[in-house]
Amino acid sequence: MINSSIPIVIVTGFLGAGKTTFLRSLIEAGELSKTLFIVNEIGEVGLDQQLLQASGAKDPILLSGGCLCCEMKNDLGYTLRDLYLKWPDKANPPIDKIVIETSGLASPASAILQLAQDHWLRDRFRLSQIIGVIDSEFGLETLKTNELAVDQVIYSDTVFLSKQDKVNAEQSAHLTECILRINPRIKIKGVNGKDIKSADHYFMSPARTDTMRQVSNPSVDHLLEYSTTNISMPDAIPWKSLASALDELSQTYQNDLLRVKGVVYIKELITPIVIHGVRGTFMQPEVLAMKDHTHASLTLISAGTHANVIAEHLSRQLLA
Ligand SMILES: [Zn+2]
Repeated sequence: MINSSIPIVIVTGFLGAGKTTFLRSLIEAGELSKTLFIVNEIGEVGLDQQLLQASGAKDPILLSGGCLCCEMKNDLGYTLRDLYLKWPDKANPPIDKIVIETSGLASPASAILQLAQDHWLRDRFRLSQIIGVIDSEFGLETLKTNELAVDQVIYSDTVFLSKQDKVNAEQSAHLTECILRINPRIKIKGVNGKDIKSADHYFMSPARTDTMRQVSNPSVDHLLEYSTTNISMPDAIPWKSLASALDELSQTYQNDLLRVKGVVYIKELITPIVIHGVRGTFMQPEVLAMKDHTHASLTLISAGTHANVIAEHLSRQLLA
């Protein structure tokens, strides 16, 4: 049974590093067609899962409302069991691999332990690789200030540097040096927008031999410095008001507001747009096809000022 076990790839990376974008570009390039995606989001609303689906991923599974590495650490095992038990022909599973996209605040440690220690799971699934995604622009700052981001590098076999077009060669070299200092055995690769190679380029690696090295279960404490909130946005907002409110947020909470993401309706368009902000910088909004949208809302994740305070500020701005 061990030879026919299903490989699992964990994709980790800090808030806004570009994990979903990385996976979407692979899906859109026609790779990963027999891959099942499991997405963990700390908030209640599963935007990443919707985005993967919009790119063509088939029925991604959403594990939302908590952190996979502590609050929901048993849910991965339940999900994998459920999945396996539903396959009519166990010898010919309908998928060839599973990709788990963890939330930006999760350590991959619990999943590593679970897959290594649970005998039932170990006979049917195997951890083949941990891929980290690091933002070229903010990665160095993130590694300096967030222990969790360092953890993600420690456990990764390969790391992909996203948004390389935002930095020069010298900045890129500094980041690479810092990553190698944390994990000298890690492979570092670049990933740039549409320049996508085959999935093998990203996912093929020698089998992990070190799954148990100094792995310990993270405690819920690791979330204490962060706060998350979700703001429902049922009404369409004029683009100008939204843009100026988001601008005001980035000016005021630049250092605290780690992540803003969600789907919002604006007066100028029938279809909703996707809002992505990382450390006070907002990306060009993407227009989302109507069919992919379920619930318009914004999720804010902050370290420092409580996310609820920032959310109230945003609401006041939008009403002004
Ligand atoms: Zn956790």
